[in-house]
Parts: sequence; C-alpha cells; structure tokens
Amino acid sequence: MNIHEYQAKELLAKFGVPVPAGFAAMSVEEAVEASKKLPGPLYVVKAQIHAGGRGKGKFKELPAEAKGGVRLAKTEDEVRHAATEMLGNTLVTIQTGAAGKQVNRLYVTDGVDIAKEFYLALLVDRATGRVAFVVSTEGGMDIETVAHDTPEKIHTFDVDPATGFMPHHGRAVAKALGLEGDLAKQAQSLAGKVYNAFLGTDASQIEINPLAVTEDNKLMVLDAKVGFDSNSMFRHKDLMELRDETEEDPMELEASKYDLAYIKLDGDIGCMVNGAGLAMATMDIIKLNGMFPANFLDVGGGANKEKVTAAFKIILSDPAVKGILVNIFGGIMRCDIIAEGIVAAAKEVNLAVPLVVRLEGTNVQQGKDILANSGLAIVPANDLGDAAQKIVAEVKKVA
Ligand code: GDP
Ligand code: MG
Repeated sequence: MNIHEYQAKELLAKFGVPVPAGFAAMSVEEAVEASKKLPGPLYVVKAQIHAGGRGKGKFKELPAEAKGGVRLAKTEDEVRHAATEMLGNTLVTIQTGAAGKQVNRLYVTDGVDIAKEFYLALLVDRATGRVAFVVSTEGGMDIETVAHDTPEKIHTFDVDPATGFMPHHGRAVAKALGLEGDLAKQAQSLAGKVYNAFLGTDASQIEINPLAVTEDNKLMVLDAKVGFDSNSMFRHKDLMELRDETEEDPMELEASKYDLAYIKLDGDIGCMVNGAGLAMATMDIIKLNGMFPANFLDVGGGANKEKVTAAFKIILSDPAVKGILVNIFGGIMRCDIIAEGIVAAAKEVNLAVPLVVRLEGTNVQQGKDILANSGLAIVPANDLGDAAQKIVAEVKKVA
C-alpha cells in the first residue's frame, strides 16, 4: 500500500525526521489559505499523486511550455495560479504511464533554499533478507539513471536485524554523503529516525529524494515516497486510513474487497487459479503456448462461491479478456464446490468468451460432472498443459 507525499512526511515527522512545514489542500482556496499559514517568502505547490517524477511531469490539459507538478511560488497569486493549473488536471510523469494521473490533492509547503540534493532510501534487500540503506550524493534526479550511468555513486549497506540500527550505520550514511561536522551528525540522527519509521510502520520502502542540505546547513526531507507491506496492515489501522483508493487500479481495488490477489496484466487470457505458485505456473504455460495472461489472480485456499463469482466478474470487466482459463487444485477446497461456484458465476455474468476449466484433487469427478451437466459451453481439461493448449485454441477459433 502506498501513500501520498504529504502523508509520508507527516509520518516521518512523527518519528522526528526534519521536513518542511506544509498543509494538504483539496481546493484552490485551501491552497491559498495553506500558504498564508506558512512563513514564506518561498512556497512550493506540489501535486499529490502516487507517482514520482512530478517536477519534470507535464499536464495533459496545459500547453507544453507550462510548468510541471512541483512549482515554486513567491506570492499568493502565484500559489493560486499554480493550484488552479494543477487541480483536476492530468499529470503525466515517467512513472504514471501515458494515461497520467488526475491531480485531486495538493501539498503546499514552506520553500527551502537548497544547497545540495542527496538520495536516501530504505528497502528490503531480497538477496540478504535485511533492511538496507541505499544512499547517494546524486539526489534530485532519477535514481535509475544514476544507477545506470554512475553505479559507483550509489552506496548500499544493510542492517543486521539482531543488532538493529547502530551508530556505525549512521556514520556510514554520513560518509557516503561526504558530510562532516554538524551535518554528519544530522545525517546520523536522521538515518536512525528513518530506520525507526521503517520498522515501526512495517514499511516496504521509504525513498527520500531529495534529501536536501539547505543554505543554512540543515538536512531536510523534501520529497518522500513510502510504501507499506500490505500483509502487515491488519496491525496498523491508523495507517489504513491513509489509503487513497482513487489512486488504485479500480479492478485491483474491487479484488481486494474480496481478499483476492489480483494484478492486471497486458494479455488476452483471463486466469482464475488457487495458490500463487499455481497461478505463476499457469501464466507461464499460457505464454509457452503463444498467448499472454490478462491477469494474475489467486482466489486463495478458502475460495467459496461468492469469491469465485467476484473473481469472474473482475476478470470479465477487463475488455481485453478473450478467454478464461480456470485452474484449480482442490485440496482444502473440494472440486464439486468449486464447480458449483463456476457454473453459478458463469450463468450470473452471461459468459460470452470461451471458458476452459481444469480441476484436480478432492471430489474431482463430482466437479467434472457438475460442469458437464451445467448446459454451459465449458471446455474441460485434464491437466495444465492440456488446459493451456485448449484455451489458446478456443480463443484463436473465435478470433
Ligand atoms: P518529484 O519530481 O515527484 O520527485 O518531486 P520532488 O518533491 O522531489 O521535487 C522535484 C524537485 O523540485 C526537487 O528535486 C527540487 O529540486 C525541487 N524542489 C522541491 N522542493 C523545493 C524547495 O522547497 N525549494 C526549492 N528551491 N526547490 C524545491
Ligand atoms: Mg523527488
């Protein structure tokens, strides 16, 4: 689960991390009011969308020479102008894709005079299984470009979970940023606080870019992107409230209501599978047979009729889907129950694309009988290879 920049900064501030003062705004008037509460003389008006690269982004509705989604303003009129141009319009950045994202919220912050821009991130390093710092003096810009062109300028080191954050980690951050004296001390302290925020919120990522050195020698977080481990959200009810559903893919959002693990993909074959491993194998074998999956969908071990119906509806609401492959292993779940769910769902949604079903496991014969006697044009398959060949053949037949 991701949150907006202003929420991320408010969260980091609770852990003692220095951020500029600021206020979220949902309207032009609120943005102007926000600026009046700030000391000035410089304000920053920032589009709040769940994507980075806003500064260099372009608004679809504005002329090409118009400024992007992060604007400096010196007067109330400039704040008003920036807010008016951004709210309701669609910002396209390197991270949004061509469709862009509509800006519905702004963040108006105290403007900072920047001397230097650094990069600092915390993430889970999958190779070591530890929380890792990623630090670079080359902040402000796209870190992927830095990693590609000058990888030696990115420093990575992980934290042993047995010891947690130690003073030497702080010193390593300061050294990697080339800081000395008081700024080095600030970096050490900030690194420890960001680490506490990471652990305390079950974050999966905290990316600070830029981490700025101000003209008066203060370290400050000017932009922060925070994502949490969704599996831990049950113990963070307060963080759940930060969720902005308008930022999420509507189909993925609907799936999450039924506790279905659904991810939209670019292909033509909708997949309904139980178990993440089987779902991956199903996607692979569709590709092996020359077509591409339209989604990843794991209905989970305890799928019931309601879940299967919801899953069907979600798959079919994707106009790209030209056929559906159901691949279910009835272990905890019985195949007859699954089959009843499939038949009920297919009738309810007036299924108009080919459907291939492969069932295996407990009560498989009863399940197959239910499908065969349903009066629906369901194509049964005997194993995974057979199922993939059949759905590809069926889809090609229709096309
Ligand atoms: P992003 O483009 O989505 O990553 O948004 P950022 O919040 O990182 O802002 C982009 C750039 O705007 C930063 O790298 C800074 O150069 C600039 N910027 C952001 N806040 C301030 C500020 O308070 N003062 C100044 N002078 N520039 C800022
Ligand atoms: Mg940034």
